[in-house]
Amino acid sequence: MRHRRSIDLAAGTPVPSADIHVIGKCAELAWLTCAKLSPDYVLGGECAACGHIAWLDRWKLALRFGENVYLENLRPRLQCMSCGNRNGNGFVIGKSA
Ligand SMILES: [Zn+2]
Repeated sequence: MRHRRSIDLAAGTPVPSADIHVIGKCAELAWLTCAKLSPDYVLGGECAACGHIAWLDRWKLALRFGENVYLENLRPRLQCMSCGNRNGNGFVIGKSA
């Protein structure tokens, strides 16, 4: 079931994820905002159920939810497009190789 305001962890992303290494996980990202995230980093979401990671378009998120919204507040909106899980998903940060 799809929620209208969910953030899809889409399988197809504009970012070539093979070239990106995960360097940070949700615990330390809770109080980060899109505005504070360095442009060198890529924002992604990780599914708690199947481990699927998808890279998100942070600029789109900032436009949609505001660049000063805490990631912790967006976390409940993450939905895995691989298995459909919405519970316990978290953000990750990646950096291009
Ligand atoms: Zn999943």
